[in-house]
This record gives sequence, C-alpha cells and structure tokens, in this order.
Amino acid sequence: MFEIRATDLAGRIGEIRTKSGSLETPCILPVVHPVRQSIEPKEMEKMGFKAVMTNAYITLKVFGKIAEEKGIQKIIDYDGIIMTDSGGYQVLEYGSVEVNPVEMAIFQERIGSDMALVLDTPTGMGVDRKRANETVKTTLKAAEETLKVIKAEGTLWVGPIQGGSYLDLLKKSARLTGKMKFDLFALGSPTEVMKSYNFNLLTKMIITVKKALPVDKPLHLFGAGHPLTIPLAVALGCDLFDSASYMLYAREGRYMTDYGTLRLDELTYLPCNCSICSKYTLKEMKGLESEERTKKIAIHNLNVLSKEVKATKQAIEDGRIWEYLGIKARAHPKLWEAFKLLIDHYEFLEDGTPLFKPRALFFYEPYDLMRPEALRHHKRLIEDISIASEKKTLLILPESDITPFHKSPFYIKLVDALGDALKEIQICFLALPFGIIPVEISDVYPLSQYVNSIELDRYAIREMLKRVREFVSKYSFEKIILLGNLDSYSPIFKRMAKVIKNCHVIDALDDNFDKMAEEILMDIAKAKS
Ligand SMILES: [Zn+2]
Repeated sequence: MFEIRATDLAGRIGEIRTKSGSLETPCILPVVHPVRQSIEPKEMEKMGFKAVMTNAYITLKVFGKIAEEKGIQKIIDYDGIIMTDSGGYQVLEYGSVEVNPVEMAIFQERIGSDMALVLDTPTGMGVDRKRANETVKTTLKAAEETLKVIKAEGTLWVGPIQGGSYLDLLKKSARLTGKMKFDLFALGSPTEVMKSYNFNLLTKMIITVKKALPVDKPLHLFGAGHPLTIPLAVALGCDLFDSASYMLYAREGRYMTDYGTLRLDELTYLPCNCSICSKYTLKEMKGLESEERTKKIAIHNLNVLSKEVKATKQAIEDGRIWEYLGIKARAHPKLWEAFKLLIDHYEFLEDGTPLFKPRALFFYEPYDLMRPEALRHHKRLIEDISIASEKKTLLILPESDITPFHKSPFYIKLVDALGDALKEIQICFLALPFGIIPVEISDVYPLSQYVNSIELDRYAIREMLKRVREFVSKYSFEKIILLGNLDSYSPIFKRMAKVIKNCHVIDALDDNFDKMAEEILMDIAKAKS
C-alpha cells in the first residue's frame, strides 16, 4: 500500500496506492468544499494536484443518501484521489456533531472515499490536561469502533492521533493507535500552532508521534498548508498535508511567497511567475472585484504550495534536505529555533539519512557539526571502527584543502621525511565538520566530499574538543603530537594541548619537512624515556 523510494533525514519519497490511482508523497491535498467551491477540483487537477480532501460530514448533511448513490467523485466533480475528513474539525469548532463515528465510517465507505478519517475528537490548543486526556480516550474509542464496522475494501483508513501540546498524551495516542490496523495515520490540530508560528512545538509534536508510530505507514499532518511548514514537516517524516489555507489566506488578501505570506497591499511586485502572476500586474490584480481577486490569489497560493512540495522532494532526491531546511529556516526566527532542535534527535534523523549521497555535503555554521552525516562519522569511529591501536604515537594534522587528505602534498612530504618511523605513528586529520579522521579512511564518503565554511567559534571548539577526547580515550597513545601549521586551527590545538594528556603542539610554519620529522621523532623518544 505504501512504498518508500528515497529518504533523507526522516523525510521520504513514497507512493500510496489507492483505488483511484497511486499518489506520490510528500503530497499536499487542497481542501475542497463539497458545495461552495470557487476553484473547480478539475482545475486543480490541471495544476498537478492528484488528490484533494473534502468533508464527508458536510456531504452527509447536504446530500444525505444521494451522495451514497452518486459517490463522492461525482459530488465534487473530480476523478482523482479523494481523502475525506469526517467532521472532527466541526467538533473542534462547534463542540459536537450529530452523527457518531460508526455512521461516519459506513457513510465514507459508501460514498467511495479513497482515504477516510475516523470521526475523532480534536484536542485543540489551550485546553487543560484533563480535557486533552478525554479527547485522546474518545478518539481511541472512535478508532476501535470504526475498525470494527469497516469492510476495508478499497478505502484506506486513517487513524487519528490526538493529544494537542501534551507530548506524553500524544505519545500514548500514537503508540496505541499505531498498533491498530490503519493504513495511514494523521496528526491532529496543529493549525493554531502554525498560526502562532510555534514551529518549536510543532517539531516536538511531530517527532514524538513519529517515534511512536510504525515507520512503514504514511503520516498526514493536518492543516499544515504553509510554505514554511512544509520543508520542516517533510524532513521530520510527514507524508501528506491538506490545505484550506490557500483559500482562507486569499480571502484575507494574503499572498503566499516561498518565505511566508504578505498582504497584497504590502507588495510592490508580484514576486512569482505562476499562471496568474505572469498574466496580471499587481495593479490589475488589486483592481479586480473582490471575489475574482480572491480566486486569483487562491490559485497563486496553490501554485506556491505545489512548488514548495516539489522543491522539498527534489532536496530529498539530492540528499540536501538538511541544507534546504537551513535555507528555509532563515525565513523566520521561530523556524530557525525549530531547526536547531533537530540536533537533539540524532538517532531519529540518522536512520533515514543515506550513507552515500550523489553530492558533496555543504557545511555553513556550527550547528551543521551536528547534522547526521558529520556525527555519524564520529560515532562510527568511536563505536565500530578499529584503527591500528598498537601504534604508540598519534600525530594529528589539520585538514587540508586537498581531498582526500592523503593526497595533499604536505602529507606526502611529511610521510616521506618520517620514513620507517611511520610504523610507530598513527596519522589522523582534524577536520572541522567531522572531528578526527584516520588517514586510512580519509577517502570514504563523505570525508573527502564536503565543502566547509564553519567558523571556529566557542561552540565549534567545544564540540571538536569533545570528539578528540572521545577518540583518544579509546586508545592508549603514549604521545599525541599536533602539527599546527594553520592559524585557523591554533585555537583548537592550543585547547587540546591544555586539556589532553601527553599532548603537545609542534609548530609547522615552515616548509622544512626533515626538521619537522626530526622534532616528531625527538618527541617520541622523549615519551619513551
Ligand atoms: Zn503566482
């Protein structure tokens, strides 16, 4: 039913097979009103939207039995894939609905939904713990009741996860729902979280739920139709999104851009080339009568969302979702804050990060030291790899511009000067994004396929120092020599010489390799005596 084709961080490109065709994920489903819909779903299909979401509860209220006879595709005049929401939003908005989960389940199967949602009780935000716990319990009960009555022929069923901002409740909800026989899962009610740009909380919510759910099932994130939310949520493993925002924003005259939304009044240009923006000038757009203008902005907004999903998918294919997220995160300080949270979830993100990527990795700032590929090298070095540990001396050289490092002229000349003494010496490089790199593995990906511009600030020095200490404490080197010829490395080397036992720096300012070798050998002799 769900096949994963490519992954990066916790993000993935997959395919969901429904009875109306397959759907490549990540994917955004525009929300379509079953009655009042100003952009025809057929128009959306032409724009490349292969699936939409509509409301089964409103369909039941308005069409009743007729909907069962005609089927949901005819009701909204769309022959693509349809996900139906079952009235949970109405519960959140009006307190309750006049149907029960069993009736809604049977109705959704009868109208032929491709993907159908259990009638849940959304937790919402700002509720007390007792109320949140009740919504989790009611939702779990609704999920059980639904699974009992469905025939499960054709329709894929979505298990709802509730708990709001109470992470322990979310975890419980995900763990219990995750054990039930659902085809997909959905994380409920983050709309308010998104409205207040609380990306920090959103990140914690998604990670909590993802860790508790089976990895081989898709996760839908409710109400995340914002160009800034999509890359973050995809990188954390959300596969499906719905958007009513394209229309809600348009009604308020809010125009989406790649980096957030702006009011039409705030714009000087239309910074976009979609079918709408290449046809109208800003002046013409403002001159349209209100309903027409809303529709035009809504189409533009859909284009922006669709473009964002495509760009995020391409970033996964390129193995650059981390870099992409870093760029997007700079669009808003609160997104930046959320991006930094990722460094606390190494295992969660490392799992889906490929060992080999088609391109060099880019490192920009100290937090990039914690991206899975950099930390993975260090962890493997400490936990899995064993270098020739009988060597008594560790010689650390700074990274060179030439990669792999063993091809750098400095290394070659030094090795030549050291001659036979090399048998006793383990040579490693200190490379900023990774830590210690033994020369033997310096050409393994990504140790020689990266571009780095991280500044050696206090954070970076502390992290590098930590990695060096973990490395040296694994072996029993009698002497550690730092050949410090690069100014940029002096702060690390100075700190290392202070805090690491038997460690000392040899100045390598000149090009006299015989002299350097002589000093190194003298040092080794001193250690022995
Ligand atoms: Zn546009």
